[in-house]
Amino acid sequence: MRVPFLDLKAQYEPIQLEMNAAIHQVIKQTAFAGGPFVEQFEKDFAAFCNCKYAIACSSGTSALRLALFSLGIGPGDEVITTPNTFIATAEAISACGAKPIFVDIDEETYNMNPELLEDAITPQTKAVIPVHLYGQVCDMEKILRIADSHGLFVIEDACQAHGAEYKDWTAGSMGDAGCFSFYPGKNLGAYGEAGAVTTNKPELAEKMRMYRDHGQETKYYHSVAGWNDRMDGIQGAVLSVKLKYLAGWNQARRQHARNYSEQLSNIGDIVIPVDPANGKHVYHIYAIRTQYRDALMKHLSEQGIACGIHYPVPLHMQKAYEHLELPEGSFPVAETCAREQISLPMFPELSFIQIKAVCKAIETALPVIN
Ligand SMILES: *Cc1c(COP(=O)(O)O)cnc(C)c1O
Repeated sequence: MRVPFLDLKAQYEPIQLEMNAAIHQVIKQTAFAGGPFVEQFEKDFAAFCNCKYAIACSSGTSALRLALFSLGIGPGDEVITTPNTFIATAEAISACGAKPIFVDIDEETYNMNPELLEDAITPQTKAVIPVHLYGQVCDMEKILRIADSHGLFVIEDACQAHGAEYKDWTAGSMGDAGCFSFYPGKNLGAYGEAGAVTTNKPELAEKMRMYRDHGQETKYYHSVAGWNDRMDGIQGAVLSVKLKYLAGWNQARRQHARNYSEQLSNIGDIVIPVDPANGKHVYHIYAIRTQYRDALMKHLSEQGIACGIHYPVPLHMQKAYEHLELPEGSFPVAETCAREQISLPMFPELSFIQIKAVCKAIETALPVIN
């Protein structure tokens, strides 16, 4: 059975009338860059994240850069994150002129290991970026406590964690700022590129709004030299429509994860993801681990089952970060995960039959390939 990795058409079909009407409104009002549809989405998204402010921008990468830049991070500063994330997290640090410092991840959650955080802090450290990888929030209580005791800013990379929860908090509401991507394949995806930063700090919100729009408070009066990071009007309208469905879509992802985990829990050396007791994982990615990853992936692909690897090369081993001189072996858990992880098809419209087909294919493949 053919199973795609994700299916954006299946998401569009049931909402197409509403979506087409919303897009048509933007065109009728010619509200193409920023404007009322983006402002409405900012209100809606801030409320969804239990935050006071949301600043819409042009991508998750620009959200991270806006937050770092507005917090005053620059040359000579160090910012701590993990090496098993999408490169955008580290790129935003580099784009501000600061240096990314990596700490290894926890073997169970694949998120920043807070026990290793303190040792990575130096007098140059200004901020920590915990990445809520795959849709699971990091151990924020420990991270916030350590950051607080060293006077560090905390910027949540929530680009994979729209609506994820940790204890009584929503992803993006715990640090100084929360950065979101609305890249089409994310849990909340635009029809193009888009992102947002959430915060509860009014001055920071104001600063980010200024930098995003050429440093202007009033048109053509520029208090600082910023840049253009505005969100398109069409994306604002699309995202407001989709936001209404996000909680239900996340629920569906969680149910799919339960179905996968039930069927995969006793197969070969497969390690299934840990569903946190103190929060809500929103399964942007459902990743399993096996020593036989490459062979399994090949087998699944031959059966028409599309999988992914998030991520095959940890950041310290990327050519782009060669200059950091962090040899293989520097972050053993991240490196093992890069070798062993495989992301299975995951999207709200996935059917039980498709999940069964994926699990069956894994079950029949493993004894043959190992
Ligand atoms: C997607 C993603 C980003 C970047 O978002 P873009 O909208 O693609 O710029 C940053 N960090 C993580 C963890 C992501 O998954």
